Amino acid sequence: MNELISASQDKAENLAPSRFTQFRGGLRAVLRAALDIALPPLCPSCRAPLGDGAGLCAACWSKLSLIEPPYCARLGIPFAYDPGPGLLSMEAIANPPAYDRARAAVRYDDIARQLVMSFKYADRLDLAPMMGQRMARAGRELLGQADALLPVPLHWRRLWARRFNQSATLARAISDIAGVPVLHGALKRVRATPQQVGLSKTERADNVQGAFRVLAEEKPQVAGRRLVLSDDVLTSGATVDTCARALLRAGAAHVDVLVFARVVAPVRTPI
Ligand SMILES: [Zn+2]
Repeated sequence: MNELISASQDKAENLAPSRFTQFRGGLRAVLRAALDIALPPLCPSCRAPLGDGAGLCAACWSKLSLIEPPYCARLGIPFAYDPGPGLLSMEAIANPPAYDRARAAVRYDDIARQLVMSFKYADRLDLAPMMGQRMARAGRELLGQADALLPVPLHWRRLWARRFNQSATLARAISDIAGVPVLHGALKRVRATPQQVGLSKTERADNVQGAFRVLAEEKPQVAGRRLVLSDDVLTSGATVDTCARALLRAGAAHVDVLVFARVVAPVRTPI
């Protein structure tokens, strides 16, 4: 979901960075403070006023669709019934990913989408601890075996426009809970990729191919280590798959994936 881009970013990039950033940051802070005094924060999903600052109202948190076992041991896609431990989905066998295992906290439905959009595009960084908590729970097994967490990097131009990398913010929140360190900067997005929305699975894979690289001087950080890639949303998996390939090429011993939400087709049965 790093691929979403807004037209206003192009305009922003043409202005002098330091003054524009200062102005924009200052203006936002002032507006935010004024609004916080005037209005209580609202639930990003149902617009109900929030009392306790939990990011989403209690009713909406409870409506998130948690992904729990039974699920495909490889892709983490929930199964309709329990086929027994270690069984894989048809997708995992037909089209095995470069990463070893993927886990997601919730299904990417309307509520999850609004939560992620608020977090990413509406400066709702207060959502990160709760999202991180759910991710740490969903990825407990992966994190227990990991040497480091690695956020999916943004291209520097997009990072500058958005001011923060949502994957890195989530990785920090997970790190606080699970005690696994975050490895920043080892994986680079060397090419800005166009929007993934509306592309087929194959097109998405082509779109991100070669977009990520571990620079030679960063290889010792990665070599022989067990890594968990973190991102906000997994759609086709093309982005994390390309990241995993780059990390494995650089000598990573093992790469898993942990996301907040993933797209899940309505009914899944194991083979
Ligand atoms: Zn709500």
